[in-house]
Amino acid sequence: MTEVIGGLNNDDGNSCFINSILQSSASCNYLLQFLDNVIENKTTGTDANVAEFTTTIEKKPKCIISKSKYGKKKKNKKQNQKNPLAEKNSKYHNNEKFFIELRKLLTNVNTRYTHKKGLSFSTSKFISTLSSQTIINATDQQDAQEFLQILFNDLEKSQIFHTTVKITSNDALQIKTPFEGILMARMKCLTCDEISNPNFKLFSNLTLSLPRYSKQETFNDILSTFWNQLDYVENVSCNRCTLLKHANSNSEYQNLLVKDVIKDDDMENILKRDNLEMVKSNKIKQIKILKPPKILSFHFNRSIFDRKQFKFKKNNCKVLLTPKLNISKFCIVDSDLAVDVADGYAPDFYYKNKNGNSEKDKKYYEKLHQSYETEYAQSDEDDDFNESRDENQYNSRQDIPENIDLFDSQNFPLKELGHIIGNNKCVYSLKSIVVHYGSHDYGHYISYRRFEDQWWRISDESVLKVDEDEVFSASGIFIVFYEQDI
Ligand SMILES: [Zn+2]
Repeated sequence: MTEVIGGLNNDDGNSCFINSILQSSASCNYLLQFLDNVIENKTTGTDANVAEFTTTIEKKPKCIISKSKYGKKKKNKKQNQKNPLAEKNSKYHNNEKFFIELRKLLTNVNTRYTHKKGLSFSTSKFISTLSSQTIINATDQQDAQEFLQILFNDLEKSQIFHTTVKITSNDALQIKTPFEGILMARMKCLTCDEISNPNFKLFSNLTLSLPRYSKQETFNDILSTFWNQLDYVENVSCNRCTLLKHANSNSEYQNLLVKDVIKDDDMENILKRDNLEMVKSNKIKQIKILKPPKILSFHFNRSIFDRKQFKFKKNNCKVLLTPKLNISKFCIVDSDLAVDVADGYAPDFYYKNKNGNSEKDKKYYEKLHQSYETEYAQSDEDDDFNESRDENQYNSRQDIPENIDLFDSQNFPLKELGHIIGNNKCVYSLKSIVVHYGSHDYGHYISYRRFEDQWWRISDESVLKVDEDEVFSASGIFIVFYEQDI
């Protein structure tokens, strides 16, 4: 008898955008571990051994949520509450249901069933616990990426599990979910050349653009384009340019200008006292990952504007993924860690090996994906990208100096962040992908995901075992989930 894992119902014919995200999430072990930590009311998250954790949940899928234990904790909490916190805690109480229902659902789909047709579960109870219902109640076809954001928002409300990352004496950020990491941005003034103090920001999902005129692109090239680009930022206040303008008449300004960076605090005091107007300049900005998340998720922006038809249409560029991903090039890492990508992770190596497969195999998967796609194809959309390229959009960036790295050793004192980057791990494994079939405004989402060393294709109630080759030849990849290797 064949065994299959759980499917999810699509009763109203409009829930595939939710189901595909939930199925993909179910393959992220760090998420399952996080949910258990929140439900068990642990106060801190740990980097517990994920492999060990996985074994536990597979053996006892039904025992993760102990209702009696959980109920007791809730009661105790309530008794300790004081009035001013009442409202906050009632919100938290609702949020508890969200975590419990989500965990139940993921446990259900992560179980093997021997029934002839498998088992499929309703998501309605879980959906009712979401803090935002607008997207759910809408009658239009919805976007899986928007649902992922709703999921992130609710996960971030846990208020239990968080890791405080102290960046500098003034900066600290709280990482609340395994999807969250920290980005660091540096800016350089194109007038005075000052590289200002860095900014830090949490992120949980990054949107990547796809090349408009290319049939396919390796994921590695897409990432390189994203991380290597310097953004051009127009008309931003510059501390140094402001002081330089008035320095002739002021020895205090001259003393400050000797420093590498004019701090915002110093500048604020001067502005207040001397009534100066800030000088604006154009700057370039570069971003890197300061702390990579446990689960790295990317969304591919497949919307392109067709000027001829004056409407958005779908960019069908195929993304060539690899089972392993090394992001050390895009992270701030110690030079020891910034090793070259080993052969197994390099897309060239992976796809060369794939090409060793027979042409017959390649044709088979091409046909298979086409047959899935045909069901949702729309005749008024094609791959005709002949309209004139928008050259102007890059004009504003022409004066960006070439070959500048605001994070190179000369520009960037690595030592100050050693306590954060020392433990960074940059190698990831692909866990799941969400695929979109159809056109820009209409279509269907499915999930390919890895569970217990097996790839599965899950389209709502339908659950199929598939080969790795089918996954890596898929077109229309919309969202990917990679998980940090231990
Ligand atoms: Zn400047």
